Amino acid sequence: MNALRKDPKALTLAVEPGRIIGAVPGARPGQEEVNVWTVPCMSEAETEGLIRSFAEDVLLYGGWCAKQVTALDLQRAGLTEAGWHSSCSCAAPQPCRHAQSALFRYREMIKERPWEAFEVFGLQPEHIRQRVREARKAAMQGVSVPPLPARSVPEADDWRPPVLSAAAAPSFWNRETPIGEWLLPIYRTARRYCESDI
Ligand SMILES: [Zn+2]
Repeated sequence: MNALRKDPKALTLAVEPGRIIGAVPGARPGQEEVNVWTVPCMSEAETEGLIRSFAEDVLLYGGWCAKQVTALDLQRAGLTEAGWHSSCSCAAPQPCRHAQSALFRYREMIKERPWEAFEVFGLQPEHIRQRVREARKAAMQGVSVPPLPARSVPEADDWRPPVLSAAAAPSFWNRETPIGEWLLPIYRTARRYCESDI
């Protein structure tokens, strides 16, 4: 269980597989209002879809590694709030203000520590990372990389390798810069590295 106690007088939040539990002091001394968000755990098929997205989409997975995850990233990873239901000891129509503030706090927490977004769906971050590594390894098997020429002529600044000029932007690409231009510094660094190694 992962409990957050930012302010002991206010909201206490606990996240566990399938549930987010929020507690706040009630109107009477010693009394608490406790609300619970029930979250459907991810099925194996959904988890496989998530692993595939992470293995194939470097930018999506990179968002988690860089701890910069947007609401759209969560949606693309399948970590949505669809099917979430709240209940609360206050008996007000749901989601009541307690449930809403617990959800708000949960979203803030995920923004700061996106790896924790998996826990409520019943998934372990380390397990996800391991499976993404395995999926990438499997995808790389049988892929052969042609060797670079032993010595290449120095490249002019405006020269572009044909493979980058012809690179089609993948569906997730949302920058104005063509993907080939964006990859150019990486290409040059890799090439320099390979040549210095010969
Ligand atoms: Zn309530």
